[in-house]
Amino acid sequence: MTSEARIKGWCPGAWRPMATGDGLLVRVRPPLGRLSRAQLLALCDASEAFGSGLIELTSRANLQLRGVSEAGWPELMAFLVEQALVDPDPEVERQPQLLLAPDWHVGDATHEAAHLLLARLAEMPPLPAKMGIVLDAGPLPVLGEASADFRLEQSASGALLVRADGRALGTPVDSVAAGVEHLVRLAHWFIESGGRESGRMRRHRAPMPGWAPALMPPAQADDRLTLGTHPQGAVFGLPFGRTTASVLRAAFESTMATAVRVTPWRRLLLENVGQAAAASIEGLLNDESDARLSMQACPGAPYCDQASVETLGLAERLAGRVEGSVHVSGCAKGCAYQKPAELCLTGRAGRFDLILGGRADDTPIATGLTETELEDYLENLNASRL
Ligand code: SF4
Repeated sequence: MTSEARIKGWCPGAWRPMATGDGLLVRVRPPLGRLSRAQLLALCDASEAFGSGLIELTSRANLQLRGVSEAGWPELMAFLVEQALVDPDPEVERQPQLLLAPDWHVGDATHEAAHLLLARLAEMPPLPAKMGIVLDAGPLPVLGEASADFRLEQSASGALLVRADGRALGTPVDSVAAGVEHLVRLAHWFIESGGRESGRMRRHRAPMPGWAPALMPPAQADDRLTLGTHPQGAVFGLPFGRTTASVLRAAFESTMATAVRVTPWRRLLLENVGQAAAASIEGLLNDESDARLSMQACPGAPYCDQASVETLGLAERLAGRVEGSVHVSGCAKGCAYQKPAELCLTGRAGRFDLILGGRADDTPIATGLTETELEDYLENLNASRL
């Protein structure tokens, strides 16, 4: 591993893992946002053999393994390459990430665009590491909230559009191939117009070029995939955006799912799963109102040796009992969530500090609470709000 692999502040990958409190974090980009049954089971095996067994689904629909040791990383990489989970060329991972609408079908506009664009990514200039492209060309866009810099979408009238992030209107194009050509051209324009300084399209203030007129808004967004049965299978939620290899493996074995689609919303679409099998899977969520779909919690103890407290169990116990956004952090680093939460609990020396409306490293209003004291405190807080 190069020394670059230890530097934070960029997006980790598989070839460039990030050192975190619980070891290396190795991020896998599922090709076209989909893993076959064999690939998913191989990823579960890798997570247990080389990491802590935890698997996380990121807000860009990547799957990441946690707790990988530096000594085990080379062997893990050889395995991931062999299973076609990672490209053998590290340079491919530096290309902008593609995020596809998860319900694409073979031959539809999203799928066609992905194939055409993958063949042309090497033509793009090197872009800032966090940049990405959304391919969301179905009749109703679903990825409007997902982090990306350029988007291929449809307008309300069915026209195909290319839209720069942060701009309300996009440029109509007359075919998928023309859309892909436009995306490549925009990537060059971004760099030539000084975009590297801005880092992301949303922050880039240069006027759009004359050949990319902003003319049409995208169609009104559709809902993200709801939990339960779906025409392509069944959708399940991951509590806190995370699960274990053993839960995922059991889900695949009990439902006979043939593949999985990843989403940026803590949801997985298991392909070809019937209604009966979709009713419930131990350890995954099937209720839209489940607070664990939105709460934040880092792995905590025993997964992370920076943590002096267990986080996931407490988060489970608090789920549904506390109103507003909640973040349970094993320490002040706040790996799971870098923004303020209405209630943030930060572990310190085996106890919890309580922060209202802040990040894990903000000033607490109460310190050194045991779990029992914490629950009493929250009950009093809730009562005083009534
Ligand atoms: S925030 Fe959580 S995962 Fe990050 S270092 Fe602290 S205990 Fe570990």
